[in-house]
Amino acid sequence: MFGLRHRKHKPSKVYGVISCDFEQDGGSSGTPNKNQTKDLKDFLKQFTKQLDELKAKATFYVQGDLAETFSKELKALNKKGHEMGLHGLHHELWGKVWFHNETPLTLDEMDMALDESALAFKAAGLPKSTNFRAPNMALNPKAYKVLADHGYTLDSSSPSYWGTKPRQYQREQLDVIPVTADPRPAFRMVHKVVPMTDFQVCNLYNVVNMSNKQFTQYIQRVVNYQAKHHLAQHFVFLTHPWEFKKLSNFDYCSPQNYKKLFSRFNALSKAFNIEWVTLETLNKRLNA
Ligand SMILES: [Zn+2]
Repeated sequence: MFGLRHRKHKPSKVYGVISCDFEQDGGSSGTPNKNQTKDLKDFLKQFTKQLDELKAKATFYVQGDLAETFSKELKALNKKGHEMGLHGLHHELWGKVWFHNETPLTLDEMDMALDESALAFKAAGLPKSTNFRAPNMALNPKAYKVLADHGYTLDSSSPSYWGTKPRQYQREQLDVIPVTADPRPAFRMVHKVVPMTDFQVCNLYNVVNMSNKQFTQYIQRVVNYQAKHHLAQHFVFLTHPWEFKKLSNFDYCSPQNYKKLFSRFNALSKAFNIEWVTLETLNKRLNA
């Protein structure tokens, strides 16, 4: 573990993936609501303006039932080189998680949800998706076969909050690239008694709570791990549209997050030679 902290590996290139789960407010804690349409449109406008300034192509995991409503915006983004993956049909559960008591889809229901989502993408004028991220990163391992049968080749559903290593792996015929988690666990005490291991996930909450310097050090630990294992250096960041507006039940959500987040990304671009790519492009590079 000490090696990860002290040895500095200077990679010639780091692939940065900005991924956004394009979904209803609060994800599984929320409900679809027509009033969110304007906010989601505003988000796409603001967020892509920032992506353009950074010269980044991003991956959007679209909740299937939102595809048609945002057809115009998503099609335009796709045309500009941003990738459109799938994030479930109605943000339902695709596997068991301890923090939701909702019943996950059966394999037959997954099959139907993928059919319905493919129709929604088609109606929205989007290409058929081959990249999947399950809501809440909860995916029944048997779902990989169903995804493969529907032509999916890439997945990013790994439960990174359990400390997934920042590397690609294979399930059925799919390549899996997890959202990045810190290879060095942080320890914290819960109620001052129970020690908890915390693998900081590269998500908006954690990134905006770091300083630019801390974020750069975080990515340094990730690329050190990958260099040690002779892997192409990369990281995958995760965010959601509702994290950029005031939400009563999550107090870190705020329009200030655009500025904070892209300041972290700009600082990172100064520290490393970053190529901001979609997950699909990263996967091609990792397979090359
Ligand atoms: Zn989600």
